[in-house]
Amino acid sequence: MNLEEKPKDITELDFFTRQLIDKNGFAFMWVYKPLCPECSKARLKKLKKRDKVYACAECSKTFEPEEYKALLKFNLEYVCPACKYEGKLHDSWEKPKSKTAPIMLKFKCEKCNEKLKVMRMKKAKTKKPKAE
Ligand SMILES: [Zn+2]
Ligand SMILES: [Zn+2]
Repeated sequence: MNLEEKPKDITELDFFTRQLIDKNGFAFMWVYKPLCPECSKARLKKLKKRDKVYACAECSKTFEPEEYKALLKFNLEYVCPACKYEGKLHDSWEKPKSKTAPIMLKFKCEKCNEKLKVMRMKKAKTKKPKAE
């Protein structure tokens, strides 16, 4: 299966994670912000943080969040913790509706059919250095 290019610039991504699955497995998942379906020249994004719609910086077309979500595709490289198979998956991604949903992706090992998950990693709280 052909995946999209590995990410170079995190600002082009809607989501990515690297994580262990159980003790012996591994998942690297990345999801690009979709290319504008109208002109294919730019990736859709919210121009301002509080914007409700996603926009193309090239052709200025805007997209509702549901339209944007329907364009998302995930890339996944994984090592199955059950059989050690190293697999790759690329498919449309149903992004969780809630920003705190713990499961980002459910998939099956292509070799042994083990049911596997990619979890949302909790962001480490950044401690602000105390002013002296
Ligand atoms: Zn466009
Ligand atoms: Zn497996």
